[in-house]
Amino acid sequence: MKKVILIKYGELTTKKGNRNLFINTLYQNIKRKLKNYEVNITKEISRMYIEFNENDLELILSKLKNIFGLHTFHVANKVSTNEQDIKNTIINMLKQEKIKTFKVKTKRSDKNFNISSVDFSKMIGSFILNNFKKLKVDVHNPELLLNIEIRQYYSYIYTNSYRGLGGYPVGTLGRGLVMLSGGIDSPVAFYLAAKRGIKLDAVYFESMPYTSLEARNKVINLCKILTNYTDNINLYIIPFTEIQEAIYKYTDNTYAITIMRRMMYRIMEKLVKKMNYQTIINGESIGQVASQTLTSLLVVNEVTNFPIIRPLACLDKLEIINISKKIGTYETSILPYEDCCTIFVPKHPVINPKLTKSKIMEEKFDYEKMINQAIEKLIIVKVNSEKIKNELL
Ligand code: ATP
Ligand code: MG
Repeated sequence: MKKVILIKYGELTTKKGNRNLFINTLYQNIKRKLKNYEVNITKEISRMYIEFNENDLELILSKLKNIFGLHTFHVANKVSTNEQDIKNTIINMLKQEKIKTFKVKTKRSDKNFNISSVDFSKMIGSFILNNFKKLKVDVHNPELLLNIEIRQYYSYIYTNSYRGLGGYPVGTLGRGLVMLSGGIDSPVAFYLAAKRGIKLDAVYFESMPYTSLEARNKVINLCKILTNYTDNINLYIIPFTEIQEAIYKYTDNTYAITIMRRMMYRIMEKLVKKMNYQTIINGESIGQVASQTLTSLLVVNEVTNFPIIRPLACLDKLEIINISKKIGTYETSILPYEDCCTIFVPKHPVINPKLTKSKIMEEKFDYEKMINQAIEKLIIVKVNSEKIKNELL
């Protein structure tokens, strides 16, 4: 008898055409997350199996809980598909349980096995009742559900079930660039987009010396937490000070945020095109602040027709906070370092900005040149869960 982890896929099994891509990507993602452990992973069309070292079990399970594309997984006993071996294993398993009621559920994918699933469950049920006189069957609300999966050569028997995150394996649905500010919202937007299978990198607009190195480190730390759910993240840090100073100097203060965001979007568009990303993602949520009214979004979005995904568009702040606590970014997000938006924020930002007014103000300075310079000077920080590496482009 040998223990293995049996993995059932999430939504991906419904996408027939893409099934191989999804399974292979999930396989690679799991392999990468478990690279520090002695494991043997095998993939099949509807299941994956991981052989592992018993001492590593808890750590492996905690890694699997953070991988998108897993529906459920189970620690199962693997035995050869014959009745006597299955019965012996069940006796051993039940000896260790302190329960009063049980139910047997059999799934038979090897149709050559000559007993139906229902009959096999009944037969095993009577076998258990004969061997454990104190146990009773309860088909509606059993304390213990004994699952038996019968396959051609091996069968898998388990009583536990762990919930995976669902979603699609990261990397199956293209590449995207997230605007990551260090606040509560954008890391949640990152997480939700990654759950859709998008491989993500991040952009942080920085206004040194108005913003601190702590603010930058906070964003790097958020990336580090987010690598729990994805692979390495490239964080592009854009020097944004000069542009912000120009906005402050040349534009009507009530329009500062509108114009600042138009500049951010312009830079984002250039970056995604230059580096072949397919979408821009951010943490905007309708109505949350003045720059996120529908009129504001219309005026800001006018600078690009590149697809922008806003996973939080229709979520309440409380819903967003709950997700950020669940994914582990909340405590870092609430650290009180100011970012570029909070520093230059006007007292009364315009709620319904006009496009023509914005364009007239922008004509007062050569933003195109500043944008190109900012992109030329960007810094890349390569973040993975183990180390952080700084690089100049
Ligand atoms: P967050 O909590 O993510 O900071 P927010 O509610 O403060 O969001 P805004 O400051 O209006 O909202 O920003 C909206 C979105 O724009 C952010 O969620 C983020 O995606 C992006 N953004 C804002 N500031 C920056 C920045 N300095 N660098 C990168 N992206 C930014
Ligand atoms: Mg913010």
